[in-house]
Amino acid sequence: MKPHEHIAQFGTVNGELRVGNVPLSRLAARVGSTPFFAYDRARLDARIDRLREVLPSRIELSYAMKANPMPAVVQHLARRLDRIDVASGLEMLTALDTTMPPAQVSFAGPGKAPAEIRQAVAAGVIVEVESTTELRRVIAAGEDLGVTPNVAIRVNPDFAVKGSGMRMGGGPQQFGIDAEIVPEVLREFGGSGLNFLGFHVFAGSQNLNAEIIVEAQRRTVDLIVDLAEYLPVELRYVNIGGGFGIPYTERDQPLDLDTVSAGLHDLVAGPIATGIPSDASVVIELGRYLVGESGVYVTKVLDKKVSRGTTYLVVDGGMHHQLAASGNFGQAIRRNYPLAVGNQADAPTADHVTVVGCLCTPLDLLGDNVALPHADIDDLIVIFQAGAYGFTASPTAFLGHPAPAEILA
Ligand SMILES: *Cc1c(COP(=O)(O)O)cnc(C)c1O
Repeated sequence: MKPHEHIAQFGTVNGELRVGNVPLSRLAARVGSTPFFAYDRARLDARIDRLREVLPSRIELSYAMKANPMPAVVQHLARRLDRIDVASGLEMLTALDTTMPPAQVSFAGPGKAPAEIRQAVAAGVIVEVESTTELRRVIAAGEDLGVTPNVAIRVNPDFAVKGSGMRMGGGPQQFGIDAEIVPEVLREFGGSGLNFLGFHVFAGSQNLNAEIIVEAQRRTVDLIVDLAEYLPVELRYVNIGGGFGIPYTERDQPLDLDTVSAGLHDLVAGPIATGIPSDASVVIELGRYLVGESGVYVTKVLDKKVSRGTTYLVVDGGMHHQLAASGNFGQAIRRNYPLAVGNQADAPTADHVTVVGCLCTPLDLLGDNVALPHADIDDLIVIFQAGAYGFTASPTAFLGHPAPAEILA
């Protein structure tokens, strides 16, 4: 997707990018300082509306909070989604501070601290265990607290999903219990005073290929239906993951949601109808697809200089707030994220410039040789696709600059 398409999705007023119906310079004045992250509530809603419109009503939507744990964002999503998935004790507290009932909060992730497991069990959160050690700790916490823990098993599938930006299932993994040993784990622990709800399979992230997602979901349902035979109780919770990607670079095309949806309708009418009890929850779990495109990272030009023919815009933000845009968040090849001059978003492109952050390292590159409208000192440079894995996925302490503000507009 090209930068002008991202600009069009937010819209402009008097030539300025509009975020949450507010012209960018007014938003910057409201925040009071740059750099900052702004998330557009209407775009969050539009994304949820579209998912609800095309997905089968049987499918519940969970928000994977690690994509963006800003409390205002989480509060907003909690009112509109069915579940929240958390991956740390702090995320769990943020989820428990919303209207979401604890039994609709799930806690996944390897290396849960025993204290976190205890808190989750006490709160009635679904603990998605990633190992037999975690399962033992859950049992111990339940006995200690005198409650029956809600548990699901995170399964490392016996297949891998191609095309994921980050693969998190198949082969050896730190995630989940290998599918082939799940039957014996259930035989050993099935009668241990646990409320076994079902299974969670999350095989990978940032996938833009609808056919591959459909195939992964089909194999996931088949796997879970097979494993359900070993559950000591009826299956009540089936989390089939997500991994829906968003287009970060010009080469990326948006995910074809209609194809994913058609696949899910087939699954719901076929293997889910025949293999999964009708009162069991069937969940997909999305992070970046829900929030990523609603967010921008807004920086101000501090300096403009020419070095041997290359024009540099030096902005007051950088990789310490938006690591992914610098290409250092797991990308194999660095490609530019979409950029705009936010206070002149409609102006024609004039120059090729290189946009760098304010850190004293060549890694702090935000736009390499990008075509932008003419920009000068004090103009606002906007980085799109910043609503997920931005602020909290960046090394904010590196060089000791102040943390950015965040606003839900
Ligand atoms: C990170 C994560 C997600 C969210 O991934 P996105 O690519 O942001 O959708 C979902 N589920 C689990 C278990 C995760 O670890």
